[in-house]
Amino acid sequence: MPTVDFRAVRAMVSMAEVLRLLDYPLPLAEADSLRGSCPVHRSTSSKSRTFSVHLKRNLFRCFGCGSAGNHLDLYAAVTRQRVYQAALDLCEKLHRPVPWLTKTG
Ligand SMILES: [Zn+2]
Repeated sequence: MPTVDFRAVRAMVSMAEVLRLLDYPLPLAEADSLRGSCPVHRSTSSKSRTFSVHLKRNLFRCFGCGSAGNHLDLYAAVTRQRVYQAALDLCEKLHRPVPWLTKTG
C-alpha cells in the first residue's frame, strides 16, 4: 500500500493555506501568530482566545481542548479525518500532486 510523504505535504502547504481552507479568519497584516476561537472543539464563543497559531512555524495549540500539532494535524482534526485522508484531501483541494513515498532498495 502506498504511503503519503507527510513531511513533503507539510512542506508544500502553509498554515495560512490550511486556515483559509477551513474558512478561518486570518489576520490582515503579516502576523507571525494569531489567537482566536478554536475550530477543533468548535468553540461557539467569538471572544474565545484559547486557540493559538504560529503561522511561520506551522504549529497550533488550544488551551481549551488540549489539541496541538502542525498544520496537517489541524486540518485532520477540524475535518475529522485521519491524517492520511487529510493529506490527500489537502492536496486535492489545493491542486497539488500527492507526494507518494516510494520505497527504494
Ligand atoms: Zn480547542
